[in-house]
Amino acid sequence: MTTILEQYEALHQGSLRLYQRALRAFPDGVTHDIRYFAPFPVYVERAQGAHKWDLDGNEFIDYWIGHGALLLGHNHPAVVRAVSEQLGRGTHYGASHELEIAWGRWVQKLIPSAERVRFVSSGTEATLMAIRLARAFTGRKTLLRFEGHFHGWHDAVMLGYQPPFDAPDSAGIPPGVLAHVRCLPPNDLAAVEKALAEDDDVAGIILEPAGGANAAIPTRPGFLSALRDLCTARGLVLIFDEVISGFRYAPGGAQAYFGVQPDLTALAKILAGGLPGGAVAGRADIMHLLTITEDAHRNRHGRVSHPGTFNANPLSAAAGVATLEIAATGQPQQHAGDLTLKLIRGMNDLLRRAQVPGCVYGDRGAFHMLIGQKDFQPEEVERILDRADAARLATGMGRLTQPVRAALLLEGIDPSGPSGRLSSAHTEADVERTLAGFESALERLKQWEVL
Ligand code: PMP
Repeated sequence: MTTILEQYEALHQGSLRLYQRALRAFPDGVTHDIRYFAPFPVYVERAQGAHKWDLDGNEFIDYWIGHGALLLGHNHPAVVRAVSEQLGRGTHYGASHELEIAWGRWVQKLIPSAERVRFVSSGTEATLMAIRLARAFTGRKTLLRFEGHFHGWHDAVMLGYQPPFDAPDSAGIPPGVLAHVRCLPPNDLAAVEKALAEDDDVAGIILEPAGGANAAIPTRPGFLSALRDLCTARGLVLIFDEVISGFRYAPGGAQAYFGVQPDLTALAKILAGGLPGGAVAGRADIMHLLTITEDAHRNRHGRVSHPGTFNANPLSAAAGVATLEIAATGQPQQHAGDLTLKLIRGMNDLLRRAQVPGCVYGDRGAFHMLIGQKDFQPEEVERILDRADAARLATGMGRLTQPVRAALLLEGIDPSGPSGRLSSAHTEADVERTLAGFESALERLKQWEVL
C-alpha cells in the first residue's frame, strides 16, 4: 500500500526538484521555521482569493493566508490597485510621505488605545520596541510573560513559547538577557501577584490578549481586566501583542473585542495588508520617549532610539491603508469568524462520526486541530481550558502534526501545521470542500494506521 508520504512525493515532483535546489542555498531548505515540512515543502507558484496553486498544478484551499496577514485573501483588488499605483511612484523615498500619515491615522482610528503610533518592519520588531519602551518608561528591567505565548524571535522573548517553558526557545541567547524575563502560567493571576511580590523591578507584562499562539491557549474571561487593574495600580506597562489578533478579532483588535485597553500594542500582519510591516501604538506619554529633542544628553540617555530602513515603507503603507479601510467595516472579520465556526463544527462532527479521538477548536477566524488526541473529544471544545494546561495545548498534535498535514495536503487543503486561519475570501463552498477533504483525510489516516 502506498503510504501518505509516497503519495505526497508522487504528486509534488516539481516541488521536490525545487527543494533539492533550495537545500544548496538555505541551511534546511526553507526560509521560516514553520514552513519546514518533511520530506519537503510545497512550492507555490500563484495565489488568488483563498486558493493557491503549486508548481505541479495542485490547487489548495489556503489556511495560512499569509501567516494571518491576508484578512482579505490573496490579491484583493483594492490592495492590488493601491500597491500598483504606489509602485509607479516609488518604493522608498528615504523621506517622510503622506501615505504614512494616512496609515498611522487608520491605526489611531481603529485601535482604541493608539494615542500615538510608530511603524517598524515586522511583528518581532514591534514587540522589541514595545518591551524597550516599557523598560525605558518605568526604569525597571523585568518582563513578565506567559507560557505558550509567541512574541517573535528577538532575544528577550526567547523563553516560554514552547515547552519546557523554563528552557530558552533557541540557542545563542545570553542567560543575562533571560535573567530579566519571567515566564508564568497563563490565566494565573495568583502567579502574577506572587511574581510582583518577589520582584520590585518589573517593567511590564506582555501577552497575546486572546491567548497564546493565536489563542490555541485561550485567555479566560476576566484575566485581561485583572491584569489591567494590576498594571494600573503598580505603574507597570501592559503590552498586548496584537500582531495576529489586531484587526482580526474586531476592527479594533482583541482590545476592542474584549473591552480592555493596554498601554502599548504591538501590531503587524493585517496592518500592512500582506506586505512587510509592523507598528507599536499606545499611550502618548510612553510613545513620547521616541521623540528627538534639542537636548543631546536626553537623546543619548533619555530616549528610545529607533532607526529602521523600511519603517513605514510606501508600498506597505499603500497595502495597509487599502486593507484597513475595508477592515474598518467589520465585515471581513464577521465573515471569516462565521465560516470558522462552521468549519470547526463540521470537523468535530466528522471526528465524532469517524470515531477518531480529538477535537478542533478556535474562534475569530482561526482554528486549532487536536486530531488523534485521546485526552480530548469533540464535545470538549467549549471547555478546552478545563481539560488542559499550557504545555498540553502548546504540544498540540505533536508527532501527528506532520502526517495530518500531509493527508490534508493530498486533499487540496493547506493548514499551517496544526492550525489554520480564514479570510474574507473564503467561501461556504471552500468550507464544504474542506469538510469533504477532511473526511477523506481521516479515512486515509485510519487506513495508514496513523490514527
Ligand atoms: N507576535 C505574534 C503574536 C505573532 O503571531 C507573530 C508572528 N506569527 C509575531 C509576534 C512575530 O511577527 P513577525 O513574524 O512579523 O516577526
